[in-house]
Amino acid sequence: MTYPFALAKNQRGSPLDGTGVCPDRAVHANLTAPALVAHALRRDEGTLSADGALIVRTGVHTGRSPQDKFVVDEPATTADVWWGKVNQKLAPEKFEVLKGRVQAYLQGQELFTQDLYAGADPARRVRVRIVTTGAWQALFARNMFIRPREEELAGFEPDYVILHAPRFQADPARDGVRSPTAIALSFSQKLIVITGTEYAGEIKKSIFTVMNWLLPPQGVLPMHCSANVGPDGEVALFFGLSGTGKTTLSSDPARPLIGDDEHGWGPDGVFNFEGGCYAKVINLSAEAEPEIWAASHRFGTVLENVVADAYGRLDLGDGRFTENTRSCYPIDVIPNAVPAGRGGQPRNVVMLTADAFGVLPPIARLTPAQAMYHFLSGYTARVAGTEKGLSAEPQATFSTCFGSPFLPRRPEVYGHMLAELIARHGADCWLVNTGWSGGSYGVGSRMSIRHTRALLRAALDGTLAKGSFRREPFFGLSIPEAVPDVPAEVLDPRQSWGDKAAYDATARDLLARFEANFATFAEHVDEEVKAVALKAAA
Ligand code: ATP
Ligand code: MN
Repeated sequence: MTYPFALAKNQRGSPLDGTGVCPDRAVHANLTAPALVAHALRRDEGTLSADGALIVRTGVHTGRSPQDKFVVDEPATTADVWWGKVNQKLAPEKFEVLKGRVQAYLQGQELFTQDLYAGADPARRVRVRIVTTGAWQALFARNMFIRPREEELAGFEPDYVILHAPRFQADPARDGVRSPTAIALSFSQKLIVITGTEYAGEIKKSIFTVMNWLLPPQGVLPMHCSANVGPDGEVALFFGLSGTGKTTLSSDPARPLIGDDEHGWGPDGVFNFEGGCYAKVINLSAEAEPEIWAASHRFGTVLENVVADAYGRLDLGDGRFTENTRSCYPIDVIPNAVPAGRGGQPRNVVMLTADAFGVLPPIARLTPAQAMYHFLSGYTARVAGTEKGLSAEPQATFSTCFGSPFLPRRPEVYGHMLAELIARHGADCWLVNTGWSGGSYGVGSRMSIRHTRALLRAALDGTLAKGSFRREPFFGLSIPEAVPDVPAEVLDPRQSWGDKAAYDATARDLLARFEANFATFAEHVDEEVKAVALKAAA
């Protein structure tokens, strides 16, 4: 295989083979976690917690920078890219300038490289080589992606390369980007350039974008979801935007974890893209989330923007740097993770939303058409988020396919594939509100994790489907009449509000937002899905 990098031919067999970087200084290839932690400490990149986790700060960027993400506009791919706000065009000439400047910059730095896989299915996996100036970011990538076996490293040739220069400042005038921060993807060159942001989530999500690009033509649906498996091998998927509970709810002692955040669904079932988890840890409780707690108190884990005292004791309630504090650890430290990262055909598809308006029911059964409506809508409402510029007030967000920032192709591509898969495998679909109940944010309170887990247990083990349902008037959702271990008044959102008139007004307002948002999809969906919107409004 050849690589379109000017310097690649001089670099055969070196860790920088295929990256276009001619190193002047030390290159640390494929170091394991202890060595990366040692380098990170030597270089003053972070400190150790009392349990040995590596605590780092990411500086000004404590979340993703979606406005600084670009896709290079190339002849071979331009017709298939969903151009717009999510995928902003970068001219190829500009990308060449940015790439050249970053390659020259990296040449003068001490470098860390890691060769890793994305995709647990060997037939679909992508070989990724990351070149970074940060020992901790190399450790992040190592924790997050799938670590090849030692014998697989010998002949490793990357499919995709990430040039990661978090301290390099891009220049809008020269590089054609918006700010010093840039996440630029070239699908033709199979190259990702990241500058001006230390937040490691960019590394993870740029590879997710690549998977979202590569898999649909192979008949595999890439999904922003977590996945776990029940006692009889039945798989559940949990879709949802950031902070809705994918990581929290898929970590379950009774259901082995397939993966935390990104999966493919194809003819052979589902497979994890990753080899690690990236959990939000603000206010993490040892009681409610024991697996994530333990994973965050161990050597080798990376803690982003977590606060600790002089003795390294964590204060997970302290959001002084950001509410988006994160813990990144290999998935195998979750006690019941599925080692292969693969499962069969899903029996249940759960769509999570954290509705800060407190309107949507804690759980509802969805028809296939309703599932498509909610998948294309991609609703949540958050109070504080992982992206910059969010205020403390609740804010409705519609992010199609529960992951629009990561979709390089048009939403209908993914929507049609999901509709087809749900129909073919007869999966049951559920909408679960992990957000507010008893009132909007400020009046009501967040749904208890215990209740949400009980609702999911009943849905996934088949109990709910056997019971009776009642139609909720605003969205036309089917709400169960009774669920074991959950008080009846929790099930009906209107009942949980003290002020019924306020509920009705808030529900009408939310429905209007759904309708306005869905207008852009109306021409791309079939009549049944269109009817969901109309029925809801009737
Ligand atoms: P991301 O895509 O950013 O990784 P995510 O969907 O994985 O987001 P989680 O990391 O699971 O989101 O975050 C859910 C957060 O909400 C956690 O901090 C969790 O403690 C909190 N939470 C509070 N109540 C609930 C609930 N009822 N169900 C799920 N999570 C809840
Ligand atoms: Mn998550």
